[in-house]
Amino acid sequence: MAISIDKFQRLEIIERKDYCDDLWSIRVRAESKLAFKPGQYATLGVESGGRMVQRAYSIVSSPLEDDIEFFFELVPEGELTPLLFKLGTGDSLWMRRQARGLFLLDSASGHAKHLLLATVTGVAPYVSMARSIARGMAGAEAANLQIVVIQAASRSWEFAYRDELEELSRSSPWLQYVPTVSRPWEDADWKGEVGRIEDLARKYIDSLALEPANTTAYLCGHPQMIENCKGILQRRGFSKEHVREEIYWIPAKGPKTVTTSPAQSL
Ligand SMILES: Cc1cc2nc3c(=O)[nH]c(=O)nc-3n(C[C@H](O)[C@H](O)[C@H](O)COP(=O)(O)OP(=O)(O)OC[C@H]3O[C@@H](n4cnc5c(N)ncnc54)[C@H](O)[C@@H]3O)c2cc1C
Repeated sequence: MAISIDKFQRLEIIERKDYCDDLWSIRVRAESKLAFKPGQYATLGVESGGRMVQRAYSIVSSPLEDDIEFFFELVPEGELTPLLFKLGTGDSLWMRRQARGLFLLDSASGHAKHLLLATVTGVAPYVSMARSIARGMAGAEAANLQIVVIQAASRSWEFAYRDELEELSRSSPWLQYVPTVSRPWEDADWKGEVGRIEDLARKYIDSLALEPANTTAYLCGHPQMIENCKGILQRRGFSKEHVREEIYWIPAKGPKTVTTSPAQSL
């Protein structure tokens, strides 16, 4: 198969971390620097059966880092993730040379408050945003920023970036990170928030006075979570303009069933 090297460049995996059976991250080194903004995604590809299987993946790393990081969930019946899952340090894959996406922190709204909601891997663009702000990318605007990240998972070991985001929350007045677990009975040691992201969103919207006049909301990951949270925000008076979304997949129609991993079955 002839790869169009105008469109794709080769990546080398320089690190892989596994968090549980179906969640892992990789750091990759690109042949040439990828230009992107925090919140954007790259298209990754693996050659299989004489063609390139390619999908979109939010970039976890900040543009200020030398290497690029991605966070994956294995979809056992999926086409690409089982191929990606086989790759380890030293292996290579392909990436389109152009990053894409409009899921960016909205600085034009004038809103100081940003409510970032995610299921599991949907935290990826928020990590990129947080790392970038922490490294000074937001400039003077950071002085007024208030960023609240609420991340839902079934169990706490699915929060791959929890240590990093908690540490950053402790040292940064502009960041608050709230992980919530929906199956606490499977996670006896969990001491944090419990319940569905929809309930946590309502709770923090109230307690932090996240009003439509001062807040932009962001929804990333599971399509059902996005639908539910959009409804909650609309009922609270948020206009479409101030609710941004990044839907990771479209649920399959018809009788074909896809095994939803525990990580995403919220
Ligand atoms: C902008 C954007 C950014 C994304 N970023 C990430 C990311 O950072 N990390 C990440 O893991 N994924 C991300 N995704 C999803 C990713 O593009 C793939 O859809 C996903 O990895 C599944 O690919 P696959 O080829 O293995 O499955 P496919 O062959 O594409 O899908 C098989 C079936 O599984 C369903 N499906 C797909 N994903 C899931 C899922 N997670 N849980 C349950 N059912 C699913 C599909 O609807 C389909 O019916 C992103 C998607 C978009 C649009």
